[in-house]
Amino acid sequence: MSSIAQSAIAKLKEAGLGDVLHVPGEQAYQAKEASLAPFSQRLGPWAIVQPRNTEEVSKALKAIVSTEGLKFAVRSGGHMWVDNSNNIKDGVTIDLTLLTKRTYNPETKLVSLEPGSRWKDVYRDLVSQGLLVVGGREAEVGVGGFLIGGGISFFIASKGWSCDTIVNYEVVLADGSIVQANKTTNPDLYLALKGGSFNFGIVTRFDLESMEAKKIWCGMAVYPKTASDQVVDAYVDFVHNLAANPDDYAFLYSYHAPLVKDYTISINVSDVNGVANPKPLQKFLAIPDPISKPEDFKVKTLYEKLADYVVPSANYTNWEAITVQVDARTMRKAATEYEALIEKLRKAIPDDNFKAQMVTQPILKSWADISAAKGGNVLGIENLPGDCLNILIGIEVQSLELRDKVGRPAVKALLAAVKSFAKSINKDADWLYLNYCTDDQEPFSTYGAENVKLLKAVAAKYDPNRVFQERVPGGFKISKASDKKEKVRSYQKL
Ligand SMILES: Cc1cc2nc3c(=O)[nH]c(=O)nc-3n(C[C@H](O)[C@H](O)[C@H](O)COP(=O)(O)OP(=O)(O)OC[C@H]3O[C@@H](n4cnc5c(N)ncnc54)[C@H](O)[C@@H]3O)c2cc1C
Repeated sequence: MSSIAQSAIAKLKEAGLGDVLHVPGEQAYQAKEASLAPFSQRLGPWAIVQPRNTEEVSKALKAIVSTEGLKFAVRSGGHMWVDNSNNIKDGVTIDLTLLTKRTYNPETKLVSLEPGSRWKDVYRDLVSQGLLVVGGREAEVGVGGFLIGGGISFFIASKGWSCDTIVNYEVVLADGSIVQANKTTNPDLYLALKGGSFNFGIVTRFDLESMEAKKIWCGMAVYPKTASDQVVDAYVDFVHNLAANPDDYAFLYSYHAPLVKDYTISINVSDVNGVANPKPLQKFLAIPDPISKPEDFKVKTLYEKLADYVVPSANYTNWEAITVQVDARTMRKAATEYEALIEKLRKAIPDDNFKAQMVTQPILKSWADISAAKGGNVLGIENLPGDCLNILIGIEVQSLELRDKVGRPAVKALLAAVKSFAKSINKDADWLYLNYCTDDQEPFSTYGAENVKLLKAVAAKYDPNRVFQERVPGGFKISKASDKKEKVRSYQKL
């Protein structure tokens, strides 16, 4: 063990964290590492420390920062697929999964969440009290990473980004001090945290607006790929009407499973008031011959919905997304390129042993108005050229080598082709959603020069020694962002 590792472990023990400190060989350490998916995040840190409360986060951070040369990572739900973002090879990982307090204050009507909870657990507690928050859509995603990246929920069209509903953050800064950030106390930090990710401190509590729990009507209709054209037309129509019907949401999900001849397209719909077959979604439901029938649609609590929806994550995955303006021609191009991707991977990967997915979701420019009414965020969607679609491509393969040498380049080529097509018809958009980015993408530069300036100034003010820029190698660093008006890089170079 290196002298830095020894010193770090000694300091964490001195800080009173010995009983929540795990090192290689211990069962708790092995179990934590084994629980990480994607597999590429199983990096074998020198030690994992699991604080039980905010004070212990502060003690851990002080011990780590005072160990010269020590690098570290922070993890909540561990769902970010970007390499090194929630774990570290030569360093210490602060794992927040014991921070799972979830409380409701009936006087303020605020729900307070610690970062280590999973969304299905949040909804189970809240729904049992007749409450909800604007949170995640998948059972196992963590509260921490989801909320600091923005957060797309089933309610986004009516309530805005999840971060827009946060009224206060409790944050441990790099020097170990514990501060609050809200509209009146540290308001610059408050604004920066609304989409600015892990650049300013470790968030140990989010206070969110609550709302009354309603049942949600939802379901998935699965179509053969031959329905692609009809699905595209129905989707464009749906997105154009979404602002007027914000309670009805839909995203598209194309899926290739190993050894299945053709991919399928599913339409995932929901009405957050529990209304079955709402008018804005009827065009979808009228597409003939689904593989699964409309009777599969049900009215559920959000907890029941999430309990049914766990994205199986195993093997080596990579997801990467772009944004383009809403246009049927670009969607058709994406469908053609997605099919070409499957064929390319089939040739390179024996036994068809891979999964490939394409998720298409709306990003409406008008959502910026919802955010502005709540005090704003730093995502910069007010700069979009119009209403947009986010196209997210995921692959799952059996080895790191296949992911990096075959899967990733193929996904990049697909996205480059779609972007270049969108550009050729003047329907491109220069925006990346941080929570859907991969390693070599740089989202902050696409949030606009003003937001980048603000984020850099807030990072310099609250972390003057650049601890989170220089000693946390993983995640998206504001110091790497350009505050010049610059286009999205990597796709234009390809
Ligand atoms: C199956 C799946 C479904 C998804 N669905 C959605 C969706 O519906 N909507 C959406 O918007 N996104 C979605 N995402 C993306 C998701 O929001 C991000 O991957 C998010 O980062 C996951 O949060 P986490 O806490 O699980 O991640 P982690 O990997 O633990 O953390 C992500 C990043 O945040 C940092 N971080 C974590 N906690 C803290 C904290 N408390 N303080 C400071 N920094 C912290 C970490 O260091 C890391 O850099 C999905 C991802 C997956 C894999």
